[in-house]
Parts: sequence; structure tokens; C-alpha cells
Amino acid sequence: MKDQLVILGSGGGRHHIRTQHRATGGFLLKINGVQAHIDPGPGAIVRLNQYEEDPVKTELFITTHAHVDHYNDISAIIESSRETLHDKNYNYHKKGILLTTPEVVGLISDYHLNMLEKVVRFKAGDTYNYKDITIIGTKVIHSPVNEGFGIIFKLKEYSLAYTSDTMVFDDFAKQYSGINILILNLLRPDSVTCKRHACTDEIIPYLNSIEPPLNSLIITHFGSMMDGPRSKRNFVPSQVKKLQEKTNIKRIIGAEDGLKIQINKLLV
Ligand SMILES: [Zn+2]
Ligand SMILES: [Zn+2]
Repeated sequence: MKDQLVILGSGGGRHHIRTQHRATGGFLLKINGVQAHIDPGPGAIVRLNQYEEDPVKTELFITTHAHVDHYNDISAIIESSRETLHDKNYNYHKKGILLTTPEVVGLISDYHLNMLEKVVRFKAGDTYNYKDITIIGTKVIHSPVNEGFGIIFKLKEYSLAYTSDTMVFDDFAKQYSGINILILNLLRPDSVTCKRHACTDEIIPYLNSIEPPLNSLIITHFGSMMDGPRSKRNFVPSQVKKLQEKTNIKRIIGAEDGLKIQINKLLV
């Protein structure tokens, strides 16, 4: 299996947008022969080039909500996913599927929307099948004004989920039951709580109630209190250690910009 996860940005929130102390490019998933770019925030196109990934290979575009660290570069990513834009008669080549909220669709120009084969207005609870990948929207509690969703990718051999930005809530764990790999947006360390995001101490009991236990957890989308302008130090290593000690998950990985991981190494 050649499936791979590529971190194009382990940062989230406005301080990382401003400083790029941690990049804000989202991540690539290469699954079942499909290259997907999820949540391309500011600089995503720069990071693709920096980490020697090929934007032309992307055919599945996903933006989970209308926050700038998740949608900013989506038009650049759509435009960069083809070598040529149109034939000599200016007929535009249609390529790729965009899955996002109706709000984000409204933020993208018709020019870019018309480059796509299909635009899927997506929300929690929805299911979409694409080339033997079942994509399911999961619930988030995040912004009071912007709709959003997390995602499950169900494949024949494994399933992988991405929480997107969310705080914890009653059924958080239930919706990830049966998942092998979880990518968790963990903005804050220890008990530094936030009304719109999760912190380590809050999430631990929820992670422990995912049944059966996850094979691997990747924490990412770190905010400025985790590492950066407003933190005394980089708290990521201590959070990885804490999660290793206090959860039933075999493997915990703290994301770094440019990190490339083979999916089969996350499944053992
Ligand atoms: Zn975010
Ligand atoms: Zn957000």
C-alpha cells in the first residue's frame, strides 16, 4: 500500500497565519490512488512546492469551514491542479471534486468553480462516494456563525478520520468508533481551555472512549499557545508524551511541517 499523509502545515489560528511560525497549508492524503488536499490555508501552494509535492496530482479538494486557515488557498489549489487551463478555443478543462460548505462555495469565484467537475455542498451526516472511498461528514461544535464538518474516509483496508476544528461534546467519541487513524486538531496544551477548540486534558477521556482503540493518533493544527508567539515553549512534545501515558492509543504523533508518513506504518 502506497497511501501517504503529508503535513503541509501543523499550525492553525491567526497567530500562525501571521507569523508562519508553523505553516498553515493543511494536509495531503494520497489514498487509493487519489490525491486529496484538505484545508489549504494561507501558504498551502508555497508549502506544496517547498515539500516537493505535485499540486497537479490533486483531484479531491476539501475545505471543512470558512475560516481563513482552512480555505484561503483553495482557489490557488484548484487552479494549480492542471497543467493547462483550457484548449485553444477557451473551453476550460474540468477536473476534480470540491467538497465544502455552501458558505465556502460562495467565497470562491465562478471562474474557479467552473474548473471543477463537481461541487458537493457538504455537511455533517452526509456521505459521498468517490473512487471506492466513502467520505462521511462528522459533527463539529466550533464557530457559532460558520457551518463546518469533520470527515471520515472509509477505505477497503482501513479508515481514517479528521476532526477539523471542534470542541469536545457528548457524542464526539461515538462518531469515530471503528476508525484506525485519527487526525486531531489540538489547538491548546494541557488544561488551557477554549470555547471553540479542544485542549489535551479535555480530549483524553473522549479519546479513551473510542471503541475499539485507535491504532494511531496524529495531533496537528497547533495554536499559538501550543507553540509560537504566545507560548513560553513548544508544548507539542510534552502533549505527545501525556497522550501516550494517559490514553489507550498505541501510537501518538505530533505533526511537523513537511512531515510525510506512510499510512501502513500507522496501522500496525
Ligand atoms: Zn483552524
Ligand atoms: Zn476554525
